[in-house]
Amino acid sequence: MANSLELRSLGNTGLKLSCVGFGASPLGSVFGPVSDEQAIATVREAFRLGINFFDTSPFYGGTLSEKVLGKALKAVGVPRNEYIVSTKCGRYKEGFDFSAERVTKSIDESLERLQMEYVDIFQCHDIEFGSLDQIINETIPALQKLKEAGKIRFIGITGLPLGIFSYVLDRVPPGTVDVILSYCHYGIIDTTLEDLLPYLKSKGVGVISASPLSMGLLTESGPPEWHPASPELKAACQAAVAFCKKKGKDISKLAMQYSLCNKDISTILVGMRSVEQVQVNVAAATELANCDKDQQTLAEVEEILKPVKNQTWPSGI
Ligand code: NAD
Repeated sequence: MANSLELRSLGNTGLKLSCVGFGASPLGSVFGPVSDEQAIATVREAFRLGINFFDTSPFYGGTLSEKVLGKALKAVGVPRNEYIVSTKCGRYKEGFDFSAERVTKSIDESLERLQMEYVDIFQCHDIEFGSLDQIINETIPALQKLKEAGKIRFIGITGLPLGIFSYVLDRVPPGTVDVILSYCHYGIIDTTLEDLLPYLKSKGVGVISASPLSMGLLTESGPPEWHPASPELKAACQAAVAFCKKKGKDISKLAMQYSLCNKDISTILVGMRSVEQVQVNVAAATELANCDKDQQTLAEVEEILKPVKNQTWPSGI
């Protein structure tokens, strides 16, 4: 089964990402504790099943995710040019700082924690919490210098409200921002990213869509304590999860398959913390290549979630 996962091009970068990407925030123990041994086994399984893209941030677990991911990648020992790593800057346990000085220092700190010489994608993390004009005029130019210095290969921006992406992309020279990372906007609950895809394609910008399980809402174990969804959205998801469970269906697999179907999205970034989760999520993708998803259960789940369709939550200043 190795390397059977579909690879998809990421905008104009020339990178080819596995359609299932490895979200490493769980390695920072943000969804419950994860030992180093478990992290290494999970990353090893990801490589074995063809995943080549790993995403982290200094914010996840207050730098723990980067440290554990770095340790796991080193332990597994795959050559550095055979996988793609993205990390972020500007968001930290201590708060937000998108200044040129901070993000320039940030890359060196991240490279040390990740135990690597460069990252493939360096993203401004959750820019709706900063000044978008600072991102355009100060942060991105600082990241371009890091590109010239060979510490990063491509530049990205991430965040929740979709309007931030066009605001920035309309104001920077073409080719400056290579990638956007959107989360919780392309899945069974919320599909609003879809409207932005033609625009992003026209700009040659690669699209990473994260959190297909809406940060735990579409899982049997449920969302973590800190989840920002409204009680109404949480309750509707709980009902959908219970419905699937009763029917003997895996809601997480259904949600993965839903998100994976749109090929204008390069990779679906799902947070994983066990060998089993890697296996289920990769199987969701490989099975999809052979047969259709479970349309009937999907329609039933969509009906349950109808009252909360496209409901999101406030983010930013
Ligand atoms: P997610 O929707 O991927 O859900 C993760 C949760 O689901 C974890 O508890 C995980 O253990 C569990 N899970 C994974 N596969 C499962 C399966 N098959 N069955 C049952 N449970 C399963 O949310 P996420 O982790 O927040 O998002 C994915 C990744 O995307 C993150 O790790 C991060 O790398 C990235 N991300 C970035 C941003 C940003 O830049 N602003 C925001 C959100 C996510």
